Amino acid sequence: MPVSLRAVSTVYDYIVVGAGSSGAALAARLSEDADRSVLLLEAGPDYATTDETPHDLRYAHRVSVVDHDWGFTANATPEREVYYPRGRVMGGSSAVNGTLAIRGTPEDFDEWAALGNEGWSWEDCLPFFRKLENDLDASGDFHGKSGPLPIVRWRPDEMRRPGQAFIDVCQEFGFPYAEDFNDPEATGISPMAQNRNVDTRISTAMAYLEPIRHRLNLTFRGGCLVNRVLIKDGRATGVAVDADGEMQTVRGQKVVLSAGAIMSPPILVRSGIGAREDVEAVGATLVRELPGVGRNLIDHPLCSVVWRSKPGVSVMPDPPVQTMLRYTASGGETNDMQIYMVNHFPGREGNFALLVILQRPKSRGRLHFESADYRAQPRIELNFFSDPDGDDVRRLREGLQLSQRMGEHPAIAQYAEALETPSAEVLADDDALDAYVRANGSHNFHPVGTAKMGPASDPGAVVDAQCRVHGIEGLRVVDASAMPEIVRANTNLTCIMIGERVAELIREERG
Ligand SMILES: Cc1cc2nc3c(=O)[nH]c(=O)nc-3n(C[C@H](O)[C@H](O)[C@H](O)COP(=O)(O)OP(=O)(O)OC[C@H]3O[C@@H](n4cnc5c(N)ncnc54)[C@H](O)[C@@H]3O)c2cc1C
Repeated sequence: MPVSLRAVSTVYDYIVVGAGSSGAALAARLSEDADRSVLLLEAGPDYATTDETPHDLRYAHRVSVVDHDWGFTANATPEREVYYPRGRVMGGSSAVNGTLAIRGTPEDFDEWAALGNEGWSWEDCLPFFRKLENDLDASGDFHGKSGPLPIVRWRPDEMRRPGQAFIDVCQEFGFPYAEDFNDPEATGISPMAQNRNVDTRISTAMAYLEPIRHRLNLTFRGGCLVNRVLIKDGRATGVAVDADGEMQTVRGQKVVLSAGAIMSPPILVRSGIGAREDVEAVGATLVRELPGVGRNLIDHPLCSVVWRSKPGVSVMPDPPVQTMLRYTASGGETNDMQIYMVNHFPGREGNFALLVILQRPKSRGRLHFESADYRAQPRIELNFFSDPDGDDVRRLREGLQLSQRMGEHPAIAQYAEALETPSAEVLADDDALDAYVRANGSHNFHPVGTAKMGPASDPGAVVDAQCRVHGIEGLRVVDASAMPEIVRANTNLTCIMIGERVAELIREERG
């Protein structure tokens, strides 16, 4: 651990920690005001241009989970550990992800507002979903045409055989065809919307930061791992950061943590903000007791039915995912389920699969803080399938059984050599299938909720509706951590929207 301490005397107006989906969007918008100086600190490397960006970050059809990854593991259940990738590079997880570009539903944001978060209803958030995008297909009141992030959908002539068959079979099963999943009313089967330019993944580093590198009031630094926030008399005054091996302090009038749902909470705890026992466990001094820090961890659990495909059907470099079904489970809430047709598992040819993903899980996990080392990951306990009434497993089980029935339809079955997993016997037996889900269910890379937004009267709330940390002046958390509930959608667009929304709240605050 570096021991030297250089104290930088420059005082920035804003220090933003983490240049991911939310942080890059926020820093870009904050620096539109030339009177405001912004320092953006990122632990991972900084590639200034798309041309200089390595292939794993540019190639849209394969997630990058090794070269620019934090290397985390998580417990899906107490017995079982899984890999838990997170992007470590300018652009954060938006730079390594699957580029599936789906907004949360109106019900999601209206729920956030109903939980006491004024300014986060669907009506409040929609302008920022419009602002972030340049939708190249869809128009009308719900879409933007001049935002930084291009959104496209697969055309019929680009569809691979399993994906096209899935579209046909879903309709035969009575699900409507939806041209645009980002229409607030949309449900059913749709070609996937993605943030890509042909085959190039468009991260927030490319969309938001690359065009504004000339701004003299915005300083970008990669290779800067923030340890903690400096707090004096209840006010954030800067951060302590390991900058390429030298420990430095740098000062800011305002500090924003945008290090993501796994890494923002440990920065808070090392700064003395969190549950008393957590702060003590990392050897820090308690500054503000907020027991919600690191609790309320939510991700989307998933499980799949896999078929061995006939030769030539599931091949690389075909895009792995082109279609998605959104539907409502029996006894569930609107659009609480997704099923993707996976044309082939990336890195593995010869299989296709229907991947069932629970969008409204009832189980909650948490982070554990056990080390003072700022380079260590918190222990991640997803606690999947722990809801007392077993509703999470039941909805996944029913989704797998629906998938099997759809896979037996001749339009899909013509591409399968055999059912691979789970076996037909397991799929036919509810108890055996429940056990299969518990033993094999994984996550969809979507952690949220670990510094949740809510009024001070909510003992689990960490930030208020402006994303300001309760009881600390000049400190915000602006990223997936702030979501009070998970959205019924892949989380990237919502994280970018959060960055956009908070930039506007700060602008209004300034008058
Ligand atoms: C493999 C993968 C596939 C995914 N696929 C999709 C998809 O297809 N569609 C979708 O909608 N969502 C997808 N997601 C989820 C989505 O990308 C995330 O929800 C979203 O990017 C999170 O945004 P964020 O701003 O909260 O955090 P991030 O984007 O993860 O940004 C956090 C940033 O902070 C940096 N950081 C962390 N700690 C520190 C520190 N101490 N000091 C300095 N910097 C730090 C990190 O390096 C990172 O750059 C995927 C995620 C992954 C990992």
